[in-house]
Amino acid sequence: MPSLSVFGAQWGDEGKGKIIDNLARDHDLVVRYQGGANAGHTVVVGGEKFVLHQIPSGILHDGKRNVIAGGLAIDPATLLREIDGLSERGIEVHPGNLCVSGAAHVIFEHHRRIDRLSERWLGDGRIGTTGRGIGPCYADKAARTGLRIADLVDPDRLRQRLGAVLAEKNALIGDVHGEETLDFEAELSAALAFGERLAPFVADTGAEVRAAYREGKRILFEGAQGVLLDIDHGTYPYVTSSNTGVHGIGPGVGFPPNQIDRAWGIAKAYCTRVGEGPFPTEDEGECGERLRDEGNEYGATTGRPRRCGWFDAVAVRYALELNGAQGWIMTNLDVLSAFSEISVASAYELDGRAVDRYPAALASLAGVVPRYESRPGWMEDITGVRHYGDLPGAARDYVEWIETLVGVPIVLLSVGPERDQVIPRGL
Ligand code: GDP
Repeated sequence: MPSLSVFGAQWGDEGKGKIIDNLARDHDLVVRYQGGANAGHTVVVGGEKFVLHQIPSGILHDGKRNVIAGGLAIDPATLLREIDGLSERGIEVHPGNLCVSGAAHVIFEHHRRIDRLSERWLGDGRIGTTGRGIGPCYADKAARTGLRIADLVDPDRLRQRLGAVLAEKNALIGDVHGEETLDFEAELSAALAFGERLAPFVADTGAEVRAAYREGKRILFEGAQGVLLDIDHGTYPYVTSSNTGVHGIGPGVGFPPNQIDRAWGIAKAYCTRVGEGPFPTEDEGECGERLRDEGNEYGATTGRPRRCGWFDAVAVRYALELNGAQGWIMTNLDVLSAFSEISVASAYELDGRAVDRYPAALASLAGVVPRYESRPGWMEDITGVRHYGDLPGAARDYVEWIETLVGVPIVLLSVGPERDQVIPRGL
């Protein structure tokens, strides 16, 4: 089966970077298809930590083709910093191991400004965005006023289009928000410089990925954020601005959905969420705090403390079903070693009635009360375990119990941040 989609099955930060890096070994191409520098995929190799924002998590392996497809909203300054940062650490990034689609949209300074100004304008109703301009960039894409990487490498077109776009953005920034406007010539010269440096990486990535599939190459599609933050199927409006799961691959890459052979979700053994929006199992008390401390739950991109709570089987079941996942990967199982008793939300209650399906309406989701069940913990360090049979009995019971609640087999367990801290299930 040459193609595999791997996506976050919660609200992001599930450990996608680590798992994709691990799975990349068995693939030829690693393809990012949505989102932008709001992702912070952390990979730890021999104690050294790499945080990847836009470059696919296959970059740390030699001989892999890493593809930034057209569905992304690219921040060129961040991307170039990422390329330079990796090169300084001995990971050479060049047009042979990284390519960027000309169709990907470009984030400009005006997008970042408008992102922050809109959040300020929304006050208590704010989304809790990372402020990196991703929402406004996707909004321009839909409004057909966006600029793409192909425009960045075409100076005449860039001057003409950026001029037209910036006039309107400056009116919004200055006249509506009362803030200082942006200087066109300064923005243009920055964009031209970005275009010049990115030009060697620009490729027809869709054609390349489709050809790779025809040639029988193994393709790994790397999702960013999480399914519960999907713009169409997540907790709208507290979502990200793209399709985060399998559904994003078709348009995001230009790849036929019927050639996505397998899909696997990634979920932590508990839950976290960054930003605003409903989170049924959120624990604002001692347990949540312990999960945050034990799991070091602080954002890789923003440093923000993550909201924490017990595993939500209803939410993960929904995420896997929505994406037709045949398997999933449970991460951070080691974090639960600190707990003598472990709870899981196996169902919800809404207005006194049991609900076993994830509610479609935000208002219903905000009103649900999780129904918890508990199991004894194992209270033993499991970070060195590599074979399923070597896990303590209580840990295996926990894994198999969750698997039954979710109804989809777990294919891989993760018991630490290092690349090789994984336990295959042998399924
Ligand atoms: P991503 O955006 O989904 O890649 O997730 P993040 O990188 O934001 O957060 C995951 C964090 O957990 C990172 O610091 C990882 O190094 C770390 N991590 C990944 N898998 C495991 C695991 O199994 N156990 C522990 N303790 N940490 C993990």
